[in-house]
Amino acid sequence: MQPIAHLHPLLQEPRVIVITMHQKPDADAMGSALGLYHFLIQFGHTVSVISPTNWAAFLNWMPACDSVIDYEREQAKADALIEEADLIFCLDFNVLSRTKKMETALAAASGKRILIDHHQQPDEPMFAYGISNTLKSSTAEMVYDFICQSGHSSRINLQVAECIYAGVMSDTGSFRFPYTSAEVHRMVADLKEKGLNHTAIHQALFDNFSENRLRFIGHVLLNRMEVFYEYNTALISIPQQDLMKYDIKTGDTEGLVNYPLSIEGIRLAAIIIDRGEERKCSFRSKGDFDVNVFAREHFTGGGHKNAAGGQSRDPLEKVVNDFVEAIKKYRSELSSYDF
Ligand code: 5GP
Ligand code: MN
Repeated sequence: MQPIAHLHPLLQEPRVIVITMHQKPDADAMGSALGLYHFLIQFGHTVSVISPTNWAAFLNWMPACDSVIDYEREQAKADALIEEADLIFCLDFNVLSRTKKMETALAAASGKRILIDHHQQPDEPMFAYGISNTLKSSTAEMVYDFICQSGHSSRINLQVAECIYAGVMSDTGSFRFPYTSAEVHRMVADLKEKGLNHTAIHQALFDNFSENRLRFIGHVLLNRMEVFYEYNTALISIPQQDLMKYDIKTGDTEGLVNYPLSIEGIRLAAIIIDRGEERKCSFRSKGDFDVNVFAREHFTGGGHKNAAGGQSRDPLEKVVNDFVEAIKKYRSELSSYDF
């Protein structure tokens, strides 16, 4: 993987470009992709954004989100775009398998794949150019750096600013997680000077849900959460019938894993959701407990030290059992309450 700075000369001529991100994109994945899109189109490139799957409705306000192609819905069109692309930007993921069904087309593409990402252990040989930095708050921040390093920071218009802000705000938990650096705050100051209305973005992302979703959260916290005090751990497990009963859509469960983490003393929070085709796991920690390692070892996943995910094909009860067995191995780490 060559340094991403080597890519800038290639962008001096109009190119055919695809931008993609991890499946079920969150605000960082979608914001990075659309922020980069609004930057690149100013140079006469032909740019398409393809999401491996559908996404949460609370992202639809992002400028040009209505032109994003859902790979699962329009596979033939997306495959043709991937095949024709000179350059394929891969944002906010470290391994091609994070794009689910799109992996085959991405791996076979003749165009150059470019990585911009902040997850651990990227599969570097798969990328011609790229930057991986696990110390960065968000991929959106890395897209901002990429733009500034290209010498075209004057092209950060309001659309670029809105998308980047949504990404960084979401991945930093509204500027509270440890990688919220002074540079992040300087970047936000710069985005504000471009005319950014941050209040409108917070409202679009956080105050746009259905009544059902709130009642679902109430139900889940009351009936589906278990606290293992001897391990400073809390787990939420959600059967598929709950999702159907409350008409839960993609994105409605995002952030739910943070509720158990708000209990005093809890260092590890997990959520296991039966999505039908698979059991999706999310892990969050406070302090030194490394959920990236935990997810890799037990749930074919990964992510960051304090936020990671994984999945399983086993039934929900088995995945829950496996989780309970797994935490027993970390008893000494988890039970040393030191924050
Ligand atoms: P979430 O729990 O919100 O789905 O994901 C938390 C973090 O872990 C995100 O940065 C996400 O990209 C990453 N992540 C989630 N699931 C997986 C997975 O299955 N594999 C890897 N490598 N990373 C994941
Ligand atoms: Mn991210």
